[in-house]
Amino acid sequence: MKATLAPPSSLISLPRHKVSSLRSPSLLLQSQRPSSALMTTTASRGSVAVTAAATSSAEALREGIAEFYNETSGLWEEIWGDHMHHGFYHPDSSVQLSDSGHREAQIRMIEESLRFAGVTEEEKKIKRVVDVGCGIGGSSRYIASKFGAECIGITLSPVQAKRANDLAAAQSLSHKVSFQVADALDQPFEDGIFDLVWSMESGEHMPDKAKFVKELVRVTAPGGRIIIVTWCHRNLSQGEESLQPWEQNLLDRICKTFYLPAWCSTTDYVELLQSLSLQDIKCADWSENVAPFWPAVIRTALTWKGLVSLLRSGMKSIKGALTMPLMIEGYKKGVIKFGIITCQKPL
Ligand code: SAH
Repeated sequence: MKATLAPPSSLISLPRHKVSSLRSPSLLLQSQRPSSALMTTTASRGSVAVTAAATSSAEALREGIAEFYNETSGLWEEIWGDHMHHGFYHPDSSVQLSDSGHREAQIRMIEESLRFAGVTEEEKKIKRVVDVGCGIGGSSRYIASKFGAECIGITLSPVQAKRANDLAAAQSLSHKVSFQVADALDQPFEDGIFDLVWSMESGEHMPDKAKFVKELVRVTAPGGRIIIVTWCHRNLSQGEESLQPWEQNLLDRICKTFYLPAWCSTTDYVELLQSLSLQDIKCADWSENVAPFWPAVIRTALTWKGLVSLLRSGMKSIKGALTMPLMIEGYKKGVIKFGIITCQKPL
């Protein structure tokens, strides 16, 4: 589930430059074109003003995301439980699943992600885990229980952090997992301390993908693994500089409601990881494996219970529900890709 406050126009997806055309990795994948409002700065002080505006836009985005999840996480939990991410479905599975089938699919998403990254159950090396963009902590509690590991989750939403800690206490897991409010782009952790760095459907909220990836790499222990599961746009073909206008338009409409900055492709993530000399970099397109998810969310929203809860939750949730068909359209037309990108930090 994503935030539904309308972002300032500068936070909406903007035409992106090809990663290879940028020299400085720190600039990669940031929105490259100031909005028209930002363009009104004077030439002499332009760059300072644009930087200040970008900072306040990033702050506005952070606040918007926090506010949204503060207000709507309860609704999601009531209807869908404690995992706020897509389910993973085998292509031959029926799309008319029961609620429990969809919950199982969300657990399967965690299992398949670990498997893809080569993190197996026998893995005793997983002692410390960070869950970057943890929601109400579903992944953290699952992974901590599975590996007997310590897990710290970070989110922008104080309501989520509190609920995640309460659920951990209720499940007698407080000695293993804890949650706090912190920014993924500036994590309050020392370098190299986590054996597993987990980001399940939070990357799409990050306004600076290069900084995001750099932070993930910084906190990873030597030999540790990074798993990023995230919404991407399709890879650009050779010679293509940007998405087609109609594709960009579709993503912009989703961004407006779901509070997302510029999107990138899985290839962009791979290139970022390569630029940081990570090992065993792998990626996959799981779009087909998540296809039944949004239709299922829409079906739940259209039940009596779903409608009543939606109305009670307010405009943000209602706008989000109305945008769900755009996600389905994006997948169907091949613009949106559900990507997994994993790698290992060298010893
Ligand atoms: N991973 C969770 C929740 C996914 S929803 C799950 O699978 O259940 C997206 C989450 O990303 C929210 O918790 C939101 O607060 C978090 N998020 C978005 N931007 C963030 C940022 N800059 N720093 C930390 N968390 C962020």
